[in-house]
Amino acid sequence: MRTVNAYAAPSATEPLVKTTIERRDVGPKDVMIDIAYAGICHSDIHTVRGEWGEIQYPQVVGHEIVGTVSEVGSEVTKHEVGDRVGVGCMVNSCGECEYCQRGDEQYCAKGNTGTYGAVDPADGTITQGGYSQAVVVTEDFVLRVPESLDYDKVAPLLCAGITLYSPLHHWGVTEGTKVAIVGMGGLGHMGVKIAAALGAEVTVLSQTTSKKDDSLRFGAKAHYATSDEQTFTDLANSFDIIINTVSAKVDMGAYLGLLAVDGTLINVGAPSEPLEVPAFALIPARRSWAGSAIGGIRETQEMLDFCAEHGIVPETELIGADGINDAYERVLKSDVRYRFVIDAATFA
Ligand code: NAP
Ligand code: ZN
Repeated sequence: MRTVNAYAAPSATEPLVKTTIERRDVGPKDVMIDIAYAGICHSDIHTVRGEWGEIQYPQVVGHEIVGTVSEVGSEVTKHEVGDRVGVGCMVNSCGECEYCQRGDEQYCAKGNTGTYGAVDPADGTITQGGYSQAVVVTEDFVLRVPESLDYDKVAPLLCAGITLYSPLHHWGVTEGTKVAIVGMGGLGHMGVKIAAALGAEVTVLSQTTSKKDDSLRFGAKAHYATSDEQTFTDLANSFDIIINTVSAKVDMGAYLGLLAVDGTLINVGAPSEPLEVPAFALIPARRSWAGSAIGGIRETQEMLDFCAEHGIVPETELIGADGINDAYERVLKSDVRYRFVIDAATFA
């Protein structure tokens, strides 16, 4: 066992505090990663605050992890000491069900093992996430991080990047597809960059016009404020694909009305409250409403390589461990441009 420093939530209502956690010994197929950077995802906040259900405290979160391999097990073949690697939202799955077999480990029939807050099949403990100095992960769930991607900016690709890449890919977004991204935070801004790189015609639907210049810089063709009712009239029936990344409950009927005939609205935002869909927002234009969770391991590697090829990196603000609690407050106010990344050296 190795004792490492970490930042943990002691309860749903208290700020995160410095603590120590144990990492298991490296097993035959395990990789020990010395963490360099960890992104802050809105899911970390939903989780520690108990918004998605009760959890066991103290809990260390963080599922956008990059670092270097410091030790490998005797049977490891995919990674070597010194490699730059990443870990996203999963650290294991059954490997045998039809979904795992086809590379959709996120939809494992037995449930994938989350990077934090899940029972670890390796030792029965509750998994602890990336706001820490090191982590031990089975080699199949460790990604290669291309060296051309800025080390201090790349971590958010491991969740925000793949969560947008996967639906864009699955629903066949390509040259000329009319795509709208709702909410331009951590996930949304990656959606703009990736969809633009795929050749889509991208529109950002944000609460205000304050992020308009950024939207255009990231590759969007247009940016509209959803606080202006005229937006919903002007853009009615116009998109093939809409991806909703908003962390709060929004008026689904209004957004579905922006889809063209046969269009699909994909929900990746995961508010704690149920979303309501009026039947007549779907029926008259054969519209679909769908959901999507992160992406599989093979697809995550493909996304990292795609981002390296297209020079896509997240827009980040680097903070120290003592800035995590303030960062959470800023994320909640949509005051993040566009992802906080923690410098793991500050956990020392
Ligand atoms: P984020 O950085 O906070 O971005 C969310 C954006 O939504 C904000 O920047 C804001 O964009 C908009 N927004 C926030 N509150 C709003 C409100 N009340 N009304 C309208 N718009 C609002 O969060 P994130 O890290 O991107 O995560 C977004 C959501 O996706 C979270 O619920 C998270 O848990 C979930 N998630 C899902 C998956 C998955 O696999 N499906 C993976 C990761 C995260 P504007 O300022 O542009 O309006
Ligand atoms: Zn996430």
